[in-house]
Amino acid sequence: MRRPSPGLLARHSWICTGCRVRARASYSSATNLGKSKNLPQTPARTRFAPSPTGYLHLGSLRTALFNYLLAKRTGGQFLLRIEDTDQKRTIPDAEQRLYDDLQWAGLNWDEGPTIGGPYGPYKQSERTSTYRTHAHDLVSNGHAYRCFCSSERLDSLARHRNAAGLSVGYDRQCANISAAESEERASKDETHVVRLRANNYPMFNDLVYGKTGQNRPKSKLDMIERVWDDPILVKSDGHPTYHLANVVDDHLMDITHVIRGTEWMPSTPMHVALYNAFNWTPPSFGHVPLLVDKEGQKLSKRNADIDLSSFKDKQGLFPETLVNFAALLGWSHTQKSDVFNLEELEQIFNLKITRGNTTVAFEKLWFLQKAHAQRAAATNSPTFQDMITRLSNLVQENIPTKQLKPILQSRTVSDYITPILHADVKSYTTASEFLQRNATFFTTTLTRQPYIPTSANGKEPIPMNALHTAAAALSLVPDAHWTVDTHRANISSYDGCNAAPPSLAESESSKEEAEDSKKARLAADKRFKKELYHYLRWALSGGAPGPGIPETMAILGRQESVRRLNEGKMLTTEPDEGEKVKKDDGPEKDQNKAWMGSLAPR
Ligand code: GLU
Repeated sequence: MRRPSPGLLARHSWICTGCRVRARASYSSATNLGKSKNLPQTPARTRFAPSPTGYLHLGSLRTALFNYLLAKRTGGQFLLRIEDTDQKRTIPDAEQRLYDDLQWAGLNWDEGPTIGGPYGPYKQSERTSTYRTHAHDLVSNGHAYRCFCSSERLDSLARHRNAAGLSVGYDRQCANISAAESEERASKDETHVVRLRANNYPMFNDLVYGKTGQNRPKSKLDMIERVWDDPILVKSDGHPTYHLANVVDDHLMDITHVIRGTEWMPSTPMHVALYNAFNWTPPSFGHVPLLVDKEGQKLSKRNADIDLSSFKDKQGLFPETLVNFAALLGWSHTQKSDVFNLEELEQIFNLKITRGNTTVAFEKLWFLQKAHAQRAAATNSPTFQDMITRLSNLVQENIPTKQLKPILQSRTVSDYITPILHADVKSYTTASEFLQRNATFFTTTLTRQPYIPTSANGKEPIPMNALHTAAAALSLVPDAHWTVDTHRANISSYDGCNAAPPSLAESESSKEEAEDSKKARLAADKRFKKELYHYLRWALSGGAPGPGIPETMAILGRQESVRRLNEGKMLTTEPDEGEKVKKDDGPEKDQNKAWMGSLAPR
């Protein structure tokens, strides 16, 4: 029989069963759970049950995430259970790393190691006596038996069957040892294992794959030399196997839904057989598909089935990015965008999980990283602060102070980086890529290729002196007004075709002609602006992509911007024009108004 009900309701163990049923029904109608056919109607109690024989990787993060989301979406609980029955393969720091990685991803467990809970302990190595008692119960009622066969005998049985082309299995030599003899041999410490007497492995209804199971027909030969798949429940060292511990714990911990990788699907009928032997109701099972690379190969260490530290520490992915990426591996939704954070996923998750292998396309990872970078900047979240810290450290580690000083002036590295990050956050993938992309902000010595104007498409190219004049007008803005807004307004209002009022002839001409002339002027202005942006980017940042021009000028500050613009002018001035340039450059102009560019009153 199933133990008392799961979820929030389970905390009040004194509530009568009828009340629980009613409470669950009202819960599910309040949360609209009943409306989705891909969601359980009542709060799900799920668990993530890693073995500390390895670190968390993309596939296991996804398993943990789906279990977490199912619990959160249905108002249930998410448990963490450490399945450390295989002590020989345990990696010493794996357990701590699992905790750290799950917490980093935001998958905090409601019950489990480090925080405890009403169904603990949550580490299988601390529950050995529970498994022993349960195995003993099965031996007592005949659903399991002790097997005293030596490994030599089992080896020779396997060899014989193999040579005869028969399926592998156990011939149940020990299944008929009397209870008294079995007890006596065990009490004399005779080496033995405990096997489940598994007469059939039932089919089960998988939440993802539908009705499934083994049910493989036996060949005639198999029937003559009959064998059974009687799985070992207790090993000869007295420790439980994964199968026994997993089933006992899922039952005792009141787990309602088991979401796990398809690699466990072949074991599930055996688990169901074990539930039946205990006379327990099995939980619902949902197996999530295998992750494969673009060639259809299972993700491996070579093709990026790397542990989480590589994503978070080496690649510098945000937890939001990796969680979002993992959620999209095999789960489909009907939202307009693919960008979700954990809280949003908690609201929309369901069990619409695709069958068949899931191809992992890592390009998506970087798309999501950029999307979450923008969200982080917009909300000034801890992730944004983290980006600033990473970038500041990288700058300090890689750029000599002597080089930085003139560019920072009185600003700190992080004060300087913050607006750069805001201005170019849409391109943020990793700190080092970001710095490389924006390297021109961190040096006063720019290397520029010779200036190449944009293609004039058969039209007269924009004269360089027109661009120099525009740049000079932008340079006249005094320090106090040296802001993004001023520059944006100045550039967009700068009239590239010398906005003289329409001539008398123009104004007297027909309406149509006036319209044409207006169009031509607009086109000329557009062409001029395009060239101006191109020129300014070349002059200010050597043509490197990055923040917009107004932002670049504001970040660099007046002194450095003007210096770069002058440098650009020198590099694009014909030698014979040089003299003229100098003469025109005098400070005597009406500087008070000139900085306003063509905004200035005429
Ligand atoms: N300990 C198993 C693993 O590490 C858990 C499998 C399951 O979820 O039942 O994959």
